[in-house]
Amino acid sequence: MLYTNLRDATGNPVALRCEAGKIVEIGPNLAGGPEMDGGGRLLMPAFVEPHVHLDKTLYGEPWMATSAGPALRDYIDNERRVLARQTTPISVRAGKLLERMLCYGTTAIRSHIDVAPDIGVKHVEAMLELRAVWRDRIDMQFVAFPQTGLLSQPGTADLMRQAMTMGVETVGGLDPAGIDGDPDGQLRLIFGMAEEFGAGLDIHLHDKGELGAWQIERIADYTQGAGLQGRVMISHAYCLGMIPEWRLEKIGRRLADLQISLMTSAPAETPIPPVQPLTEMGVTVCCGSDGIRDSWSPVGNGDMLERAFFTAYKYDWGRDSEFALALACATTHAARAIGLAGYGLAPGNRADFLMIDAETPGDALCRRPHARRVVRAGRVVAKDGRLV
Ligand SMILES: [Zn+2]
Repeated sequence: MLYTNLRDATGNPVALRCEAGKIVEIGPNLAGGPEMDGGGRLLMPAFVEPHVHLDKTLYGEPWMATSAGPALRDYIDNERRVLARQTTPISVRAGKLLERMLCYGTTAIRSHIDVAPDIGVKHVEAMLELRAVWRDRIDMQFVAFPQTGLLSQPGTADLMRQAMTMGVETVGGLDPAGIDGDPDGQLRLIFGMAEEFGAGLDIHLHDKGELGAWQIERIADYTQGAGLQGRVMISHAYCLGMIPEWRLEKIGRRLADLQISLMTSAPAETPIPPVQPLTEMGVTVCCGSDGIRDSWSPVGNGDMLERAFFTAYKYDWGRDSEFALALACATTHAARAIGLAGYGLAPGNRADFLMIDAETPGDALCRRPHARRVVRAGRVVAKDGRLV
């Protein structure tokens, strides 16, 4: 199939030929074979969601505003109560959200999955089944996530090992100091587990200021020690937005050397890792939704174009180069951060892309139009917000 009459990010005409699910040719003047007219739409690579909690979404359930907080522990305890009350299966809630995400143009996802003594590996079982159902439409990677603590919750480490044996790819971590009160203990455990399973790591780090920055340096030490360059992501890392410039520079260089990537959900009020300077230092910074419509917050809709917009909005960005960076956080940077192979608008890569009714990437971010055609492996799978 030849997709014609499209425009690239700079406004130039472009066409794209797909064969056997891959892009085989991309250029301004392609002709021949069956064609689909793109109607002058903007061509974009499909979105990559690098951080979501599909197993805990309440998508499709009645409205529920936030009732927890203010401490992290309050949110966690509240969540256990809310999840215990749910009667709609994970496959239904997460399935509805996946459908929405695909309609918005996301074809690859990394989801954390809770592993904890109160639920065992129940969420893992449900998510593995869901992955099998969705495998042709969305790539899914999983992280075994110790949401209620690791060392502070005896039994969790064994459950995480069980999850890894069942088919989860990545070892998770959570505030080694703030939640477990034993930073070296947790890092030793999760890096040991990563080595045991030949896996990468994705660590939630909410700990702020110097405590957080110190842990990032320890994560860098452990990454270097385990030879896990390019396989570690730190999620949130608010602390990097709270330290002096010289210290950020020092840590940023180290993260770039060790190819440790960062994920931000671009929250409005909390400082976040400064995206531009870190990107210039060579750090892969991506943006992700985190929880979508769950007990932590009803905010979020699964649209990565909106998440990229939040990233731009956070910094008052308005230049085309800045919008391009925000979009990269939801596409190319996110793909690199989760180690997604064969991604992007180039010959040889899988034909996952969007045709969107927008003038430029900046226009797409600012308006977030619903008029999108989503192509997965060379075929249109969603049109104007509905599955085809
Ligand atoms: Zn998260």
